[in-house]
Amino acid sequence: MRAILMGPPGAGKGTQATGLIEKYQIPHISTGDMFRAAIKTGTSLGKKAKEFMDAGSLVPDEVTIGIVAERLAEADCANGFLLDGFPRTIAQADALDKILVDLQMKLDGVLNIEVAEAKLIERLTGRRICRQCGATYHMVFNPPSADGVCDKCGGELYQRSDDTLETAKNRLDVYNLQTQPLIEYYRGQGILKEINGDQDISKVLEDILAALE
Ligand SMILES: [Zn+2]
Repeated sequence: MRAILMGPPGAGKGTQATGLIEKYQIPHISTGDMFRAAIKTGTSLGKKAKEFMDAGSLVPDEVTIGIVAERLAEADCANGFLLDGFPRTIAQADALDKILVDLQMKLDGVLNIEVAEAKLIERLTGRRICRQCGATYHMVFNPPSADGVCDKCGGELYQRSDDTLETAKNRLDVYNLQTQPLIEYYRGQGILKEINGDQDISKVLEDILAALE
């Protein structure tokens, strides 16, 4: 199974990735992990990527694409892979198409997990943390018994600054702006699979598996 996993922050992409790699016994290839591995093994592209990262600049496309090409040619990708976080741009998607042609591989699907924006905001802003013991809660998934009070120690619960409404909206805007062209790109290729992410975790996985059949 060769697939790309896409979905906005808060859509539960990580959980679904875990389910998919277990089901198909394929590697989960995220850009961050790939960079770290290439740097650790010291490949020439890894070294290049490290130079940019150390300088605090974005790793240019040709380096990223080279690292992806190296990774997909590895033996454990022979039966498939789940790409996560790549491609991010149309240029990268074009490059990926070429890599796959060279490797004589074809994508089975591009999974786009969709969740209504209001739901995503609820998920992204729901986290609360205890000032005293660090316990974490979620207003929707794991609420404390009493509002604003830690069940474990009675400490005060607070919201981290990166969990605020403004940050959540900003993250979603950035994601949508970046991803919309890719969604159209893969829709045009006829391999986009739209998945309703506003359901039980197990039902979402079931829908993904059905879409990939
Ligand atoms: Zn506490």
